[in-house]
Amino acid sequence: MFSPYINNNLNFIKNYFSLLLTNDKKNFPQSIILYGEDAFTQYMLALNLAKILNCTNDKSINCQCLNCNWVKANSHPAVITVSKLDFKPEDDNTKTVISVKQTQSIKNLLASTSEYYRVFILCDAEIKTPNYVEKEHIKTFKDNHFTLPFEDEQNDKYWVPKGLIRKVFQEESANSMLKSIEEPPQNTTFIFLARNKSDLIDTIISRSQCFYVPTNYTQDEDIRVIPQELKTYPQIDRLIINDIAERFITNAELANISAEEALTKFQIFIKQTALANSNNPKIVSRMIEDIKVINEAQSQIKSYIKPQPALENALYKIYKNWETISP
Ligand SMILES: [Zn+2]
Repeated sequence: MFSPYINNNLNFIKNYFSLLLTNDKKNFPQSIILYGEDAFTQYMLALNLAKILNCTNDKSINCQCLNCNWVKANSHPAVITVSKLDFKPEDDNTKTVISVKQTQSIKNLLASTSEYYRVFILCDAEIKTPNYVEKEHIKTFKDNHFTLPFEDEQNDKYWVPKGLIRKVFQEESANSMLKSIEEPPQNTTFIFLARNKSDLIDTIISRSQCFYVPTNYTQDEDIRVIPQELKTYPQIDRLIINDIAERFITNAELANISAEEALTKFQIFIKQTALANSNNPKIVSRMIEDIKVINEAQSQIKSYIKPQPALENALYKIYKNWETISP
């Protein structure tokens, strides 16, 4: 059913959806949120689900039925990517948001009947020259026989998916979709891609089934700002906490990001470490504590506490959090 990458890397999600997809399609959720750091895998999973839902043959990964081929080529008439770049009505001049005109077009589509299973994939996107990590993702995407909405190999420009954020999917547009999400016509599913659930408004979260999509990619770019001395996490050398904090802030400045953003990258690093230890609930729950400690530091910085003391304080708490655990 699922492409090799998803088969090998998203065990829980694969099993969950396989079960749903072998049952009556009527039970398939009408709204899904896929969240996590890896928008490429989320997008591939969304297309893969759309492919299975529309397949008229045996639902195998190599199926060559018309529907499967359309989805793989990203040209299925009922599998629609909606972003600030995609699915724009002609009279819509907005470039930075998913507009109300776009959500209205979705509603118009839903008003007519369809012989297909309709899947709307809502995400943010950018057309750009991919960086090193994105290149890896694009390669995986192609190896799994899917196609991005825009690929220009010659000029090295590609459509790169990103998680929705409130600035792009503003409340007015999101709200105008609530009714469609709640009572869609039969054979319709909305899939939202986001980094965090909280990037979407509560009324969409409460109407959706939410799934964390883990990633296998070492996000080099993301963890570049984390000082070497901190990559031994959860072990932190208490004696050099000042130095680590200072280096962290300098790295952030060099990378041209704020201290808060740098801390978010540290949280990503912790999440990845937690995922690698997901069979050990005790470790995972301590790591969740650490993520909260970093949230606190971020709010302190927001309320004008200097990054250095905020960071030192957080690192000390993290150190304390692990002091008592036996190796
Ligand atoms: Zn098929």
